[in-house]
Amino acid sequence: MNEFNSLSISLTVAAFIVCLSNIVFTQTQGRMGKKQNRIFMMLLIIVALNSACTSVTAFFKPFSFTSESAHLASEIARYFYYVFHTVLAPLFFFYTARVCGVTFRTKPVMKYLLNGVFLATELMVLVNPMTDLVYYLDENYDYHRGWGMILVYLTAAVFVFLAILFLTTSWKALTVKRRTGIVLFASIAISGIIIQMVSTELKVELFAEAIGLTGLMIIIENEDDRLDPNTGVYNRQALMMDLGSYIINNNPLHAVVIRITTPDIITHRVDIDSSDMVGSAVAEYLKTLVKRFNIYRSGPKSFVLIIFDANSDRPMEIAENVKTRFEKPWLLSDTVALLSCAIQVTGIPGVVNSVKDAMYMFDSQPPSNTDKKIFYGEDLDYLVKRISIEKSLASALSSNRFEVYYQPTYSIKDMTLHGAEALVRLHDDNMGMIFPDEFIPLAEENGLIDLIDDFVLLEVCKLIKEEDLPAHGIDCINVNLSVIQCMKPGFVERIKGIVEEAGVDKKYINFEITESLSASNYDILSDVISSLKHEGFRFSMDDYGTGYSNMRALAKMDLDIIKIDKSILWEAEESELGEIILENNIRMIHQMRRKILVEGVETGKQIELLKPLGVNYLQGYYFSKPVPKDIFLKIVHGEN
Ligand code: C2E
Ligand code: CA
Ligand code: CA
Repeated sequence: MNEFNSLSISLTVAAFIVCLSNIVFTQTQGRMGKKQNRIFMMLLIIVALNSACTSVTAFFKPFSFTSESAHLASEIARYFYYVFHTVLAPLFFFYTARVCGVTFRTKPVMKYLLNGVFLATELMVLVNPMTDLVYYLDENYDYHRGWGMILVYLTAAVFVFLAILFLTTSWKALTVKRRTGIVLFASIAISGIIIQMVSTELKVELFAEAIGLTGLMIIIENEDDRLDPNTGVYNRQALMMDLGSYIINNNPLHAVVIRITTPDIITHRVDIDSSDMVGSAVAEYLKTLVKRFNIYRSGPKSFVLIIFDANSDRPMEIAENVKTRFEKPWLLSDTVALLSCAIQVTGIPGVVNSVKDAMYMFDSQPPSNTDKKIFYGEDLDYLVKRISIEKSLASALSSNRFEVYYQPTYSIKDMTLHGAEALVRLHDDNMGMIFPDEFIPLAEENGLIDLIDDFVLLEVCKLIKEEDLPAHGIDCINVNLSVIQCMKPGFVERIKGIVEEAGVDKKYINFEITESLSASNYDILSDVISSLKHEGFRFSMDDYGTGYSNMRALAKMDLDIIKIDKSILWEAEESELGEIILENNIRMIHQMRRKILVEGVETGKQIELLKPLGVNYLQGYYFSKPVPKDIFLKIVHGEN
């Protein structure tokens, strides 16, 4: 036995042991759920078998001349080596495809073709003892390659080439970890193959492959960082990654989004972390519907199921099942609770075509003004609109598509113009004019609200200055502020900076803020208002009567005007109870010594109703709708 031979035996035995331990490890970790996992296991088994065969060949080969059975053992092992080895490249290809998110569901032809090529090659190797096409031994027991071997190598090369192709097209959708894993495996395996090609005696290839597979096992097959620790299903990161590869590889799918809509107040009754407890109960149920690795927890209280049966009824069936399940109570630790849910079903590609849009959909609340539980098809139009508005918003400032409208306000005493409220509009080439109710909530979510409110304030300052509004009897212009923005550090300084730079006296700016705050935020807001008031600005509380009017907190705030919401006025017209509510609200505000503006005045009758109650200002369609700047200026100049 020469030195190379004994080294080769050591290496292949080592490869065998490495593969064997990897097999045992993978089994005990229970990583066998997905097709990808199963292909990986097959790779391990094949390399293990190959190592065993090579060891046997190398061990018996030196005794071939002296013992017929040694010769037979050596040759049988060689034969099986080729039988197994031919499977390796196609397996590696299918493994890579899986890692890249390619499932061949839409391209079964391609799958059959590739399987056909593989089977033909395998068959050629299998019948080699009869044909000697792939390799043969001469009468001196010397080994020779036949032309079939070229075909075997060619097939392997095609599969490796295709694997690389998938890798490059999916490169962007792969995490750094996955890229590293595959490249590591490929480079270790390829260096092994090269060394073996240069020095045919040294059987290093299998050892290199075993080490490469160990790398894959640690880097790719280990999914700890893709799993949600509380529920055992995939996490948000995994969802984004997998979706990305499905989309890149044109792998159509359906997403069923399950959002638990039960308010926290109810789930808070149970001590431990309620959303995790609810989450695991729901996840356990979902596992009975679809395989674990098709479930993703996209948020604390939302799950996404990925279903591949394109054009089938399965997604809707699942949605119906979930809906029915939510009609029954859930056992949460030792408490029983009823949970509510909203389910969205969508095809991808379809309403959404990118990971960003998909995540947007998964994260967005379905409309609350309906009893519907399942949203699909046309029900998702609201999303399409939201997505288009969000896109439109992103470039609106830079392309000058915001416009400030003005709605005049009047003194009730002599019905003269008192001021105006600045109301922003968004223009879109396709959607036309978009109203703030549709885009302000989105802007508050994505942080654009700061810039929008700054823009409006600057426009208002310019108008006051350029048109010298105070000289025309305008007392102040009302500018809406988003509560979210007010709470941010540095807010007062920024606002102050804008107005001072524009050279406008601060008393002409009256900020409006909506009264819809939780009690805990009142303190911060109260401080902000004091600071702004201290600077000389004026302040109004907007939409009074719609929130959780915390009278004590409200009384402490240094407000100039309280704006009674239009719904209070409209109710007062409708019923006696409504009238009592309006009167009591006005009385309370009077006791706080604040001025009152009533908005939503649409008829003369409403004005008659308000006159004896002692309100100060009026605003509404009766006088004027919000109008563009030039029309507002005509009103100011008495030309309208
Ligand atoms: P808001 O501050 O309560 O504004 C009053 C809304 O009621 C305006 O709707 C106005 O057009 C409407 N309105 C006024 N009078 C009448 C009436 O007589 N009848 C009826 N049916 N409606 C009337 P708009 O302009 O669509 O604004 C909606 C909301 O968007 C505003 O409610 C405000 O909260 C927000 N908003 C508007 N502009 C801005 C802004 O520049 N910044 C911020 N942060 N929010 C804004
Ligand atoms: Ca307002
Ligand atoms: Ca209002």
